[in-house]
Amino acid sequence: MENNSNFIRTIIKEDLESGKRKEVITRFPPEPNGYLHIGHAKSIVINFGLADDFNGRTNLRFDDTNPLKEDQEFVDAIKEDVKWLGYDWEELHFASNYFGEMYNRAVLLIKKGKAYVDDLSQEEIRQYRGTLTEPGKESPYRSRSAEENLDLFERMRNGEFENGAKVLRAKIDMSSPNLNLRDPVIYRVSHATHHNTGDTWCIYPMYAFAHPLEDAIEGVTHSLCTTEFEDQRPLYNWVVSECEMESTPQQIEFGRLNISNTVMSKRKLKQLVEENYVDGWDDPRMPTISGLRRKGYTPEAIREFVKETGVSKGSGVVDEAMLEHYVREDLKLKAPRTMGVLRPLKVVITNYPEDQTEMLDAEINPENPEMGMRQIPFSREIFVEQDDFMEDPPKKYFRLFPGNEVRLKHAYFIKCNDVIKDEDGNVVELHCTYDPETKSGTGFTGRKVKGTLHWVDAKSAIPAEFRLYEPLILDEDADRNAEADTDDAAENDAEGKTFLDYVNPNSLEIVNGFIEPNMKDVKAQDKFQFFRHGYFNVDPKHTTAEKPVFNRIVSLKSSFKL
Ligand code: ATP
Ligand code: MG
Ligand code: MG
Repeated sequence: MENNSNFIRTIIKEDLESGKRKEVITRFPPEPNGYLHIGHAKSIVINFGLADDFNGRTNLRFDDTNPLKEDQEFVDAIKEDVKWLGYDWEELHFASNYFGEMYNRAVLLIKKGKAYVDDLSQEEIRQYRGTLTEPGKESPYRSRSAEENLDLFERMRNGEFENGAKVLRAKIDMSSPNLNLRDPVIYRVSHATHHNTGDTWCIYPMYAFAHPLEDAIEGVTHSLCTTEFEDQRPLYNWVVSECEMESTPQQIEFGRLNISNTVMSKRKLKQLVEENYVDGWDDPRMPTISGLRRKGYTPEAIREFVKETGVSKGSGVVDEAMLEHYVREDLKLKAPRTMGVLRPLKVVITNYPEDQTEMLDAEINPENPEMGMRQIPFSREIFVEQDDFMEDPPKKYFRLFPGNEVRLKHAYFIKCNDVIKDEDGNVVELHCTYDPETKSGTGFTGRKVKGTLHWVDAKSAIPAEFRLYEPLILDEDADRNAEADTDDAAENDAEGKTFLDYVNPNSLEIVNGFIEPNMKDVKAQDKFQFFRHGYFNVDPKHTTAEKPVFNRIVSLKSSFKL
């Protein structure tokens, strides 16, 4: 991470200076059990960024040791997302390609008397492990001979035992104050087809055993992970050392990224997808990389945001407004300006000639004049925004009301004279007059108006759909339990609610309006700033030749300050 120093960079620098390391090799190790989210982007930026700073290399490694949860769809999506974020891996690896090597290392442990086959059930193992205040109890199978263990482990591999009937455990210390060292399970039986190795294996290594071996096999020097693995570091080192790995990677932990009103654990995101709270992993309300991309976020904005959140041991909750700040910053100079009316109200300009259309000139981006000019048609009938008119306005309402005059952006002043209603009393049309003297760009200074409205020409406007978003989850600290992200982790907050109780029923609003006719050729993922409404992205999934669909990325205003 270029400009700012952090404690990991300091460690790496010292390792190189002292000669402890000759090079820097990092890895980004996702489990292909879901799509990447913005928390992963932090890990990606740190791993690739640090290696890059020291002329090192970064591998993409799929940590695919659990056959039940992994899928090729996720492998493909993860590769796409890493590339889209702007990173290129040195080598592509699958942890499952090391199953043979891992098996051999487990056999080595058994031969050394450092691992044993245990017949206790999962529940018994948990009970025997003890607690922080209570020492663990040794399994009755702990004293099996190396010969017996070798035979049983081979038979586990050959498929002689049911799921859960036997496990292989590291023989470390049942009275260690660190529960992770109380003979952790390192292999389990699982009769399941693996996405990469098919039915070759029916025993699979546990994460805590597999991960250090993967790092060592690849020659990773600095293995960066999040702080929930801090207590596992002694086990990580034990595995590397007792398995007699040539290369000795060093695990370093940093604080995970949490964002207000956002859940990031893949398991929770998966639940939102599977229970149809959203329409897929790339739903624009999701904090996934693919969701953010579809909403209209740019890789630059995500990278800058992640860098600015910094690298530290702590893991506070970052305000979602900070993420929004960075996409506004990135799009400010890039996105063309345009006008769109989201909830149209017809305005007839009664003193404008019936069959006339004139073309008005407008800058594409006043903050970036190099982008040039566009032309906007203007004629007798236009649309304005419904809430830019009020029949009985409160004080300080400067938009349209009977008798008031406003400026139409890039066009003329108009004055509201008559309000046309339907039988039920709904306002359906306004009759206004324009003043030709007030044409935009002519330098008219005769009188001032306080309101400037956006509009589109009714005859030529293109129908468009707009999708407006609010946070999917309404909970400042929505991911409070992300670090205890196991299937049986306590999920409930103080009031006994789960994250699903905080799903926002108003997270998506769809409205139908109109856009300027010069927008007829917009393509998926094109981004615009609609005057007064914010930044929008052309949705790649719902847009058709007849009707573009725009996702609001972010509104224009923010109270967020860096
Ligand atoms: P989740 O809990 O969201 O499922 P995970 O840690 O199980 O995430 P992995 O696929 O194992 O998901 O993650 C790959 C890498 O990304 C790991 O090194 C992990 O520490 C890191 N990572 C995951 N979530 C975050 C986060 N919120 N902030 C920073 N790094 C993260
Ligand atoms: Mg994980
Ligand atoms: Mg997880």
